[in-house]
Amino acid sequence: MTATAPLAANRPAQPASGQPPAIAIRELSKTYSGGKRALDNVTLDIPRGSVFGLLGPNGAGKSTLINILAGMVKKTSGSAEIWGFDIDRDPRNAKRSIGIVPQEIMFDPFFTPRETLENQAGFYGVPKDQRITEELLRAVRLEDKAEAYARTLSGGMKRRLMVAKAMVHSPPIIVLDEPTAGVDIELRQQLWDYVRSLNAEGVTVVLTTHYLEEAEELCDRIAIINHGKLIADKPTRELVAMGREKTVVVTLGQDVDALPQGRSFEKVEAIGERQIAITFDMDKATAGEVITAVQAGHYDIVDVVTREADLEDVFLKLTRENNADAAA
Ligand code: ADP
Ligand code: MG
Repeated sequence: MTATAPLAANRPAQPASGQPPAIAIRELSKTYSGGKRALDNVTLDIPRGSVFGLLGPNGAGKSTLINILAGMVKKTSGSAEIWGFDIDRDPRNAKRSIGIVPQEIMFDPFFTPRETLENQAGFYGVPKDQRITEELLRAVRLEDKAEAYARTLSGGMKRRLMVAKAMVHSPPIIVLDEPTAGVDIELRQQLWDYVRSLNAEGVTVVLTTHYLEEAEELCDRIAIINHGKLIADKPTRELVAMGREKTVVVTLGQDVDALPQGRSFEKVEAIGERQIAITFDMDKATAGEVITAVQAGHYDIVDVVTREADLEDVFLKLTRENNADAAA
């Protein structure tokens, strides 16, 4: 998939009201008929021109959010605007402004890739002379398979066809829901190249993932959603910095008396009679400095365990901060 992004010709004109965010979500909630509250009062702006990551563990509510935007799941309450168009009041323009690559691969196995794209363009009412079928086939490297039945395509090819299908109407926003689930490394790289080329052409890209590294690599802004709630919405740089923490737990030969000191430690606490946990930023300190500081307190060291922050810790940290904010 090389850098050929689709033409902007068919993109809907911007609404008159200046420059709203690409997607504006307000107090959006969804409770499924079984009673599961999959989205809980989510308010979020996705800036124009960004590569935006919606990050969260499985079951967090990511697909529910995307499917509401796609018009495939009915929200329980709240509102959403896509490119300034309200999904309830102006569903037609809202739909024309977004291309969605769903998590599940789905299309008619008896059509060829070319037919699939032509049908989809017809569905969106793109006039014949404005269709970009051949360009899209090239962009996702399916020009050789243009006449093959979709059911004979490999998994990777099917996913590429899904991406092309989402772009037939040249929307200003493309959303990829878990695009690399079950995708090999080579295809992943091709997919990212294509996503970057679309973004370079001005397309706002939204992708959901449960991999922190994936979001880190691609996105300039990341929102984290957990149990249906938005718990963070930050520039990637800030979020990644939160995961640069390491905790060293030292078990001592004596009861804890005075806590060791270190200028570059973030937190020092006694977590048991003979255990101290020291947390530091990996850019500022090392486990060696921790050990030196403990030894300076004339303790014997019986055991040392180190733990690096992962997404789970970032979640916990954010949740703690959120609770502290709420209590303040
Ligand atoms: P994610 O995409 O982040 O993995 P989903 O939005 O798919 O999460 O799911 C969020 C929660 O809603 C999960 O607990 C899931 O089981 C539930 N859920 C998803 N779709 C349905 C549905 N159609 N009916 C009932 N519950 C659902
Ligand atoms: Mg999902």
